[in-house]
Formats: sequence, structure tokens, C-alpha cells
Amino acid sequence: MKETWTILKVLNWTKGYLTEKGVENARLESEWLLSAALGLDRVGLYVNFDRPLTAPELAGIRTLVARRARREPLQYILGSQEFYGLEFEVAPGVLIPRHDTEVLVREAVNRAGKGAEILDIGVGSGCIAVALATALPDAVVCGVDPSPEALVLAERNAQRHGVSLSLFRGSLFEPFQAREFDLIVSNPPYIPTPDLAGLQPEVRDYEPRGALDGGADGLDFYRLIIPGSLSRLRAGGWLLLEMGIGQAGDLQAMFQATGSFGELFTARDPGGIDRVVGGRRL
Ligand code: GLN
Repeated sequence: MKETWTILKVLNWTKGYLTEKGVENARLESEWLLSAALGLDRVGLYVNFDRPLTAPELAGIRTLVARRARREPLQYILGSQEFYGLEFEVAPGVLIPRHDTEVLVREAVNRAGKGAEILDIGVGSGCIAVALATALPDAVVCGVDPSPEALVLAERNAQRHGVSLSLFRGSLFEPFQAREFDLIVSNPPYIPTPDLAGLQPEVRDYEPRGALDGGADGLDFYRLIIPGSLSRLRAGGWLLLEMGIGQAGDLQAMFQATGSFGELFTARDPGGIDRVVGGRRL
């Protein structure tokens, strides 16, 4: 006799399979994957638990589940991630927005004056720049990224949220030789190269290396951004940077070594880890 696969049965099977493959929160993720494959929301899934699935529906589910079983991030499969209360399109080639980065946005919003000109270095999916443009409607927000895929996605995310960004392809300050800003923010790559191999497979095998690898000690980009920002920041302007665990001391020393920053501060993420370092151009 041919077996009937209902939604509930497939859900339970998927949960077991993904758990076996090392996926945490396998039950919840299975629900997201089935919802996406069937075009239902989670309530729709629940009220249809007993519905038998057709062969094409099963094939669609199988494709998504196989991707997740290979530890591709759920966000790349679903194509979206929430950040700062906004939904962002994401795709392989850009770093998936992290909630830890919301503290960078909050600190920037608190310091941006009226009509601030803001630069986001390494704009990626556009999550920081779009969140800033949304929270600060009179700001001018520029973004720079070396990756063409990132710029396409950042533009789409800006349009999705009805804000406009000025986006430039290039490395760090390169497109801005003769331009000054009131606020510069960045979430640069900051993982020390030797630590990359130990990251979870979702990050190590799927997220762009160029958005993660901060060089031997993780600080390569800060060595360029902190001194490089001096000629692009107006007096009284702020430089705010996301950082990794244990980097606060070295980064504050780099700010101090320029002799051109005051009001140095650090801010913690919801996990209590120092996540943002910043200072004000004298
Ligand atoms: N927060 C990311 C991670 O821990 C790293 C992002 C970065 O290097 N800027 O995976």
C-alpha cells in the first residue's frame, strides 16, 4: 500500500532528519521550511496538519530540506532575515544580518544630528544603512562595498523599505576622496583568520569569507578604517564600529593613537559582550 504523507508526518520526519544533521531548533526550522515550500504561514501549516501532500509538494519540500541538511543557513534558503524590526532580503554572497549589530544602529541613531551625512563601510545587505535611513528620515546615507552582489541587494532592500541610499562600489574610503561625513559606521570583517575553521558550518561554508576574515588577529580593517576616517569625518563627527569578542582594548588604543578622537565609548550587545566601539572626531 502506498504511504500517505500528511503535513504533520513530513514535519516530524524533517525534524528528526535535521536533528540528525546537527541543526539546532530543528522543529521550528522544519516548520519554516515546510511553510515556505507550501506557501503557507505557520498557522496555515497547523490547521492543515492532516492534509496529504501531493508529489510536487513533496518534491518542493525535499529540495529545501536537503539544502538545510547540508547546513546552508535557513536565511539563504528562505531569502530573508529580520533586523531592527525590518525584513531584509538576503542571499548567498552577503553576510546575514545579526541581531548583535542592532546595537551599532541604536548608538548611531542616538548620535546623528539633524540632516546628518552618514557613511556605512561594507554595506552588505544594506541592513545597517536601511535601518539608519528609516530611523533618520532627514539623513543622507551612503554605502560602499566591494561586492556587486551586495550592492544589488542593498538597493533592493532600500526600495523595499522606501528609503534611498547612495551606493558606491569600492574598497573602504576609495570612492570618497573629497567628501566629509558626520557619522561613519562599519561592521567590518573581524574574525581572526585562524578562527575561521572553527566556526559553525553555516557561517564557515556559506557566508562570504570576505565579510568575515579580519586577518591574522582580526584587526586588519580597523587599522585602515580608524586612521582613514580622519580626513573623511567633520570635526564633531562620530566613528562607530562593530567589533568581535575581546577586541575593545586594542580598538580603543587605536582610536587614542590617532590623537584625534575624544569621547571614546564602548557599548554591549544583548548578550553582554562589548560589541561597538566609537569616538568623536576632535
Ligand atoms: N558577527 C559575525 C559572526 O560572528 C562576524 C561578522 C564580522 O566579521 N563582521 O559570525
